Amino acid sequence: MLKIAVTGAAGRMGSFLIKSVTEAEGMELAAAIDRQGHPMVGQDAGLIAGCGALGVNIGDDLEQALQVADVLIDFTFPEVTLANAVICARMHKMMVIGSTGFTPEQRQQLADTANNIAVMLAPNMSVGVNACFKLLKEAANILGEDFDVEVVELHHNKKKDSPSGTAVRMGEVVADALGRDYNKVANYHREGMCGERSHEEIGMQTVRGGDIVGEHTVYFIGMGERIEITHRAMSRAMFARGAARACQWLQGKDAGMYDMQDVLELK
Ligand code: NAD
Repeated sequence: MLKIAVTGAAGRMGSFLIKSVTEAEGMELAAAIDRQGHPMVGQDAGLIAGCGALGVNIGDDLEQALQVADVLIDFTFPEVTLANAVICARMHKMMVIGSTGFTPEQRQQLADTANNIAVMLAPNMSVGVNACFKLLKEAANILGEDFDVEVVELHHNKKKDSPSGTAVRMGEVVADALGRDYNKVANYHREGMCGERSHEEIGMQTVRGGDIVGEHTVYFIGMGERIEITHRAMSRAMFARGAARACQWLQGKDAGMYDMQDVLELK
């Protein structure tokens, strides 16, 4: 049995992750962790996740938790994940990372810190979104320079990072396919007399409100026609199932950084 620890256990994704680990074959929940002082620390993780008592209480000591785990699933925040990666690297534990909002420097820091363990990092673990990444590459290759590209994403009103990691990845995929540098062509802000749209730019727009789980549309806008590639997440459960699948896939892999495209063999 593969033994899994989950950080951010008391968060929105935490419950789904605990449920998906308990439902997946060949693995079991070994530990659940949240931040010190969280009111749910000390409570049974299974009861919080709605899947019955599991006899695993939410703790706040990652190092202790990892003594009984093989893989850490971490859906928290970039700064927390970076600190957790230091501990995982020291204790030689694999990581499946779903936190979003990493800066390019933080992503590099993560790769440097975790260079002795296998890490799967993906801003979106749904099969559908990862299929979209592949479709976007194909669309950009076919449509080439004749279409303007805009990315619009919608999320719930508690989301902290913006634009979403998935939207950024979508922009990067299209930019790469078109031979552009995403960091140079991404345009996050239009206001006032900002002038005409440049040919190369990729507009990144964000909507926040209510309980939207996550929606992403990439527009390829040409003269007289428009293609829209949209993914709508209706539940967080499929992100969690993707994380469990990634845990299974990581077993026996060499140290290094992987993504969901590797897990789903879409490369
Ligand atoms: P959330 O705020 O509901 O949960 C985060 C949890 O982390 C909270 O319970 C918080 O107390 C806990 N936490 C904070 N510091 C901690 C620490 N030091 N140790 C352990 N736990 C700590 O957020 P959420 O909606 O569950 O999302 C979490 C992250 O996952 C976000 O970055 C979000 O964008 C990302 N996310 C990724 C995917 C994906 O498929 N990759 C899908 C959904 C959400």
